[in-house]
Amino acid sequence: METPAQNRPLPRVASDLVQDPSLTLGPIVMHPWFSPILKSGEYITLLSTDQIGYVLISGTAKSIGINTRSAFKSDTPSAIIRWDASSDSITLILTTLLQPHRFLQSQSHSHLRPQPSESESVRTDTNPNSNPKFSSTAISLLKLLPEALAVSQTYKIPKFFLKFTSLLLQLHASPLILYTAYALARDTPNCKRYSSETLTEAHLGCIPKPLRRILQTHCPRYLIALDELHLKWVEAYEELQYCFTKNLKVNIKLEGYGSICKKRFGRGCPAYISTNHSFTRLRQIAGEAALTVIKSNAYRFMCAEIEEAIHEATRCETCAHRLINAFDAVMRHVMSDLRTTIAL
Ligand SMILES: [Zn+2]
Repeated sequence: METPAQNRPLPRVASDLVQDPSLTLGPIVMHPWFSPILKSGEYITLLSTDQIGYVLISGTAKSIGINTRSAFKSDTPSAIIRWDASSDSITLILTTLLQPHRFLQSQSHSHLRPQPSESESVRTDTNPNSNPKFSSTAISLLKLLPEALAVSQTYKIPKFFLKFTSLLLQLHASPLILYTAYALARDTPNCKRYSSETLTEAHLGCIPKPLRRILQTHCPRYLIALDELHLKWVEAYEELQYCFTKNLKVNIKLEGYGSICKKRFGRGCPAYISTNHSFTRLRQIAGEAALTVIKSNAYRFMCAEIEEAIHEATRCETCAHRLINAFDAVMRHVMSDLRTTIAL
């Protein structure tokens, strides 16, 4: 018959703990994700400030950069290494490096702390591509990143951040999440790269509150830089809208552009008819169609996709060509000097 846990003799450090992750050694709780059954060989127990233990085979610990050299002082195959770090940070670092599937399969980080009865419940067969909540996992992990980064620097685990960003990509993290991760690591080149991917309408001016808080707290100049870039683009999109629909502000005349089309086919061109003889209305429709494509792709110059949208909106070759020429000039005027990355 199974001996109740509380009646068993307390094991020495980690060695016999692993069959029951809820077993404690004094105040130490072994993390269930890192309590392998060890039969032979050297192993270490990494101990957090909040008394969570992580059992790692010595070779595994070395392979991810943990310095075990000074830990083994006697003939025993086990050793304890204390890290001045919380279990949240250590769990994030070790799981990212050794068991990333835990995060890829989970929808929440809420089980980072060892709660043996529930720890396996985070494992689901969720397909990241079909789960709209998947980015919440990325944001949850990001909240733990500042401390984990500091710990990985203190204990010289450079592989951690590389693997972490690769994990974010596998979680289909948005460019705003990737920007925040690189900002926390003060990686300006990658921040520039991802800042330019945040200029589409889906992300522009929509920095989620948790990310804003993280940036504000840990690296405010990266938040200021991104806000400044976004503001310029929001203003540019507003200017484009005004120019397309109200006042071109470039030396191109649209007055009378319907004169040929009014007479075409006797009744006027399809655009003239479909807009109830209002070329002002036609221009608005074409302008909105062009803007939708421009904002979805952060286009700065006229291109085939915008032309196609204008053609579809107007349904008249002549009208479309005149509007495309006018809008092309407006885009050069408004967008050509616009920055596409943060100014840092
Ligand atoms: Zn026409």
